[in-house]
Amino acid sequence: MALTGIQILKMLPKTNCGDCGIPTCLAFGMKVAAGQIEISACPHVSDEVKETIGEASAPPIRTIKMGAGDTAFTAGGETCLFRHEKRFENPTGLAVLVSTDMGSADIDGRIERFTSLRYERVGVLLKPEIIAVKDANGDEKAYTGLVQKVLDGAEDANIILISDNSGNMAAAAKLCGDRKPLLFAATADNGEAMAEVATEMGCPLGVKGANLDEAVSISESLAGKGLKDMVIDTGARTVRAALEDNVVARRAAVTKKFKPLGFPTITFPCEMTDDPLMEAMIASVLIAKYAGIVVLSDLQGDTLFPLLLERLNIFTDPQRPMVVQEDIYSINGPAEDSPVLITCNFSLTYFIVSGEIEGSNVPSWLLIKDTEGLSVLTAWAAGKFGADLIAQFMKKSGIEDKVNHRDLIIPGYLASIKGELEEELPDWNITIGPREAGHLPAFLKEWKPAA
Ligand code: SF4
Repeated sequence: MALTGIQILKMLPKTNCGDCGIPTCLAFGMKVAAGQIEISACPHVSDEVKETIGEASAPPIRTIKMGAGDTAFTAGGETCLFRHEKRFENPTGLAVLVSTDMGSADIDGRIERFTSLRYERVGVLLKPEIIAVKDANGDEKAYTGLVQKVLDGAEDANIILISDNSGNMAAAAKLCGDRKPLLFAATADNGEAMAEVATEMGCPLGVKGANLDEAVSISESLAGKGLKDMVIDTGARTVRAALEDNVVARRAAVTKKFKPLGFPTITFPCEMTDDPLMEAMIASVLIAKYAGIVVLSDLQGDTLFPLLLERLNIFTDPQRPMVVQEDIYSINGPAEDSPVLITCNFSLTYFIVSGEIEGSNVPSWLLIKDTEGLSVLTAWAAGKFGADLIAQFMKKSGIEDKVNHRDLIIPGYLASIKGELEEELPDWNITIGPREAGHLPAFLKEWKPAA
């Protein structure tokens, strides 16, 4: 039976040392109980306690790690069926396939796109994380040569090794060394040999069944032999079958605690269609419904970017608004006669407003007031963006030392507080800006400080 946070707390050292990254043992115990962190994150509990708590509090979908260092990839760790029940923990990994039966230019192109297709949105770097390297013809030399090329060409790539041959798999896994790859796959025929390689190399192992039932039977059998870190491929190669299997697996693991399906899934849109747009559509369905990893045949900006954005939306914690830090942000190299604008710290507002200012090429000062992640009108209605608070922030922000004028542009939606703000900031002239950020460039190009 699952333990409560208080039951777990009783078994912790209760020193509140913070070495686990959580400030108190109580908060840590609560997170362990909720399946959001593993008991092993506390370095001060005994092995016996780890075993007792670990089994009872592990998330129903096991957390699987690949790679090393800052760019290591984590899949699984999920605890719910629907995002709004709690949140989804680890974003679906996006992988691109390279194979020994591809031409050298094709492979180079995929590696180059993997390393260059990166985007920054709302302060987050969006990029694919994984390259899947396939042994298409069983030639060890060709395979290890390709793996080495990927290791050298994409230093932050996590690797999936795809081979039916356990000897080739072992040779390639050795090459990867500390960049612990996912080994794919153990089948009904080669399960034991692949499990040996995975155990020896300390790597997670993919399990591939001809269907869901066979995947269950292989994972059950490997778990019986002590293998813990697995990723499941149910063999589905149509969008309908893959979606159904993902849903069945997640439901069985989360609601029935069915251990053989308590692992992240790996899916292959690259093997479901030859049409790149259809492939992206299939990937989008599988990102939305529970795929731990999605393997794509290639990466192109026009399809990758929407997938990255979809993933960002789905895996953002719905209970915690994304915020930017309260501060003065200089955009386009402002000087002392540049306009001063203010808005809230809801990150979407910040990035839209700052993007429009940047696009205008008008050097500007953008003041971001902490509104606890609420948008302009909501923050105003909640009493977090009123004239008194804005005035306090203006005075302590240091903006008065940066500009030689006293003209403040407020969001158009806050027009009603203009009078109040003028009373709070008697030295400042308050200008009502546009309601929509898209109108900022034209507004700023016309702006002149009040005489
Ligand atoms: S590392 Fe362990 S002892 Fe320290 S605060 Fe975390 S749970 Fe408590």
